[in-house]
Amino acid sequence: MTTVAREELRDAAIEELGSAAVVSELEQLRTYDCDGLTGRRVVPALVVLASSAQDVQAAVRLCNRFDIPFVARGAGTGLSGGALPVEDGVVISLQRMNRILDVDLEGERVVVEPGVTNLAVTQAVAAEGYYYAPDPSSQQVCTIGGNVAENSGGAHCLKYGFTVNHVTGLDVVLPSGELVQLGGASVHTDGPDLLGAFIGSEGTMGIATRITLRILRRPESVRTLLAGFESVDGAGLAVSEVIAAGVLASAMEIMDRLTLEAAEAAVSAGYPLVEGLLLIELDGTREQVEEDTDRVIAIFEQVGATEVRVAESDAERSLFWRGRKAAFAAVGRVSPDYYVQDGVVPRGELTAVLRRIGQLAEEHGLRVGNVFHAGDGNLHPLVLYDASVPGELEKAGRLAEEILVACVDAGGSLTGEHGIGTDKACSMPLMFSEDDLATMTRLRRAFDPAGRANPGKVFPTPRLCGEVPGPYRMHPLEKAGVAERL
Ligand SMILES: Cc1cc2nc3c(=O)[nH]c(=O)nc-3n(C[C@H](O)[C@H](O)[C@H](O)COP(=O)(O)OP(=O)(O)OC[C@H]3O[C@@H](n4cnc5c(N)ncnc54)[C@H](O)[C@@H]3O)c2cc1C
Repeated sequence: MTTVAREELRDAAIEELGSAAVVSELEQLRTYDCDGLTGRRVVPALVVLASSAQDVQAAVRLCNRFDIPFVARGAGTGLSGGALPVEDGVVISLQRMNRILDVDLEGERVVVEPGVTNLAVTQAVAAEGYYYAPDPSSQQVCTIGGNVAENSGGAHCLKYGFTVNHVTGLDVVLPSGELVQLGGASVHTDGPDLLGAFIGSEGTMGIATRITLRILRRPESVRTLLAGFESVDGAGLAVSEVIAAGVLASAMEIMDRLTLEAAEAAVSAGYPLVEGLLLIELDGTREQVEEDTDRVIAIFEQVGATEVRVAESDAERSLFWRGRKAAFAAVGRVSPDYYVQDGVVPRGELTAVLRRIGQLAEEHGLRVGNVFHAGDGNLHPLVLYDASVPGELEKAGRLAEEILVACVDAGGSLTGEHGIGTDKACSMPLMFSEDDLATMTRLRRAFDPAGRANPGKVFPTPRLCGEVPGPYRMHPLEKAGVAERL
């Protein structure tokens, strides 16, 4: 975009939205140049700070007038490059739209603007004995709009389901600028499930401006346990046995020694320093939880746990969780750089795939820490590297990609909860045929015929995936070095 065109865009935006809603200075624009996938950066032409659905409509219409793309942005914690700006495009930030609009305890619904944080929903209803179930580890910061776009998960999604199971209605600004409603307060809608299609579409079908959420009553009783094992395999076996025994835990998380040590150093959770740690939570009626606790402890003993601890208070329970929730960031203590992979495997393949990850790490000469939602088979291998060592960034990129191939080969999938974004768009053909991708693209085009909403994300495009020679062939991590040119 020429400087003149950029100035015209800025002036038009100020006229439509007012100067307080428009960011156009380069230094300020740079703060929006990436999300949690920090290896890729693009400075947008303009950022609009929307305060209402009408602002979002005005910003989208402006993009149509100037024939440029737009990217919705919540808190920018996404790990797959979903909120990465598109060159010469507009970022529409939803963070100012952070009001809780309605709380209906009787109907068990909360209506929010998209910039409300995940945790704020629970905080708004906690005193009345309710909570919002999906709990990404980033919940203090990430927004409900981002959660909807990514169909985010969390430790307790094992029992309660993902974001898609907790959203009943959306107001959406379509890429045409029109404001539409999908679903409502009821869980049932007639006709095709457009709400379901939108959730998880990563900003490629429009922008959610009002979101109706289901809230749940807090269970009567909750019990959190830690069990240490001599290997990650041992912890994995315990998970299989608990499930086989018919115990429906609300969460089952495993950490290996590397992530455990990092988490312990970060938050002093008092974890035993073992090779495989299983964190398990049981909830329900008091009697059910008592019974399940006894069964689970017996299983842990049978499969050779070296140590079992039961949280004795809410404070201890929170401490157990604090270490797990801090695990990604804590790894920064043991490595200058790291990349969070996100893949899914059938539960029965967990052990085999973890072994394969160990082999791949050895072959590439890099360390990989494992922390994962074991009950869902959702792995989060943390590939540790040092970007200042020549070639290590590229090595980390290749290793991360080979881990993904191992997941898909085992019958799993490309992402459990972090989304495809820019990071994995080029990996989509690992799972989907050309026909599959063409069908998905047709659905997306029904919402966005001109392709202005978050282009280049989710769907592989020739420009991004190397049908043309050049730096586009590289993995996003490798591309980091040439990000300025892209
Ligand atoms: C330390 C850490 C831990 C994490 N743990 C988890 C976890 O346990 N589970 C999990 O699922 N994720 C996790 N994440 C990833 C991330 O927090 C989630 O994907 C989250 O939902 C992103 O929310 P956000 O507000 O930051 O969205 P952003 O990163 O700003 O955007 C994410 C995507 O949503 C789109 N988008 C944002 N708002 C809207 C809107 N209103 N309408 C339409 N599209 C929109 C963007 O265009 C982009 O494609 C973690 C991230 C970090 C850094």
